[in-house]
Amino acid sequence: MSTTTASSLIDLRDLRLDDARALLLHDASSITPEPQASDSPVAYVQSIIDNLCDLSLKDPLTGLANRRHFRNVMSREIDVVARSGEHALLLMMDIDHFKKVNDTYGHLAGDMVLQAIAKCLSACVRPMDTVARYGGEEFAVILPSCQVTYGQTVAERIRETVEALRITISPLITLQVTVSVGGAYAPEWVRSTTALWTDRADVQLYRAKSEGRNRVFIDQQREIAVSAEEKSMLFGPLSMEDPAWIENISADASGVAAGSAMNRVN
Ligand code: GH3
Ligand code: MG
Ligand code: MG
Repeated sequence: MSTTTASSLIDLRDLRLDDARALLLHDASSITPEPQASDSPVAYVQSIIDNLCDLSLKDPLTGLANRRHFRNVMSREIDVVARSGEHALLLMMDIDHFKKVNDTYGHLAGDMVLQAIAKCLSACVRPMDTVARYGGEEFAVILPSCQVTYGQTVAERIRETVEALRITISPLITLQVTVSVGGAYAPEWVRSTTALWTDRADVQLYRAKSEGRNRVFIDQQREIAVSAEEKSMLFGPLSMEDPAWIENISADASGVAAGSAMNRVN
């Protein structure tokens, strides 16, 4: 279908776009286009959809991924790790004594600190990593393809960079904060859940807090030794494009079901 044909199917007057446009108008980072005479209706509607998607994935204060978006990235990464055995590290970071910043300098200063930390974290990681604002003064990063031996170093570098950061909140006031960091690798060759993975990193974060703050703890997962043959037995058939596999599974399943039914009867 040509663009011209598609655009002729949309008449902007038939769409209720006021709420969507109002939402985007209130978001400083969104470019809310007024329909231009030169725009096709399709291009205009597409830009509204793109901006709304962006809005639903981002934390408005820092521009980082929000928790919803982060959970989706985690789920995807769990899948990749389970299929490929690659290493993916989750780091949870919580600003130390952040309440004191708010109490001493005010909530706006607190917001500026959150924005500065967000920028700092984004600068510390690779473009392929995802940084999120996980909650109030809590941040999280997913680092795909991160070797187990690098985890501690990467997390330490983040901690040190935050510690060295000077945050100017007024011409006369510059603040320094620290973060506690807890980390965990996604289990390899095993399908897990975002909740279990987060819990393991959270335990380490709690440990970093209780052992004095401004420190890093990474869950030392036990390496599961799986041979190449076992890996292909476990994950080789997971190619969903292979119809033979689906048929084998269905045949096996009916066999198992029949077998177990007989067991029950006998
Ligand atoms: P700890 O070292 O144990 O983490 O201490 P803490 O003071 O950082 O932790 P606590 O949970 O006591 O306080 C967190 C504070 O973060 C309280 C809350 O008001 C503040 N906060 C949460 N979200 C925001 C926000 O969006 N802006 C600002 N300015 N403050 C926030
Ligand atoms: Mg906290
Ligand atoms: Mg805190």
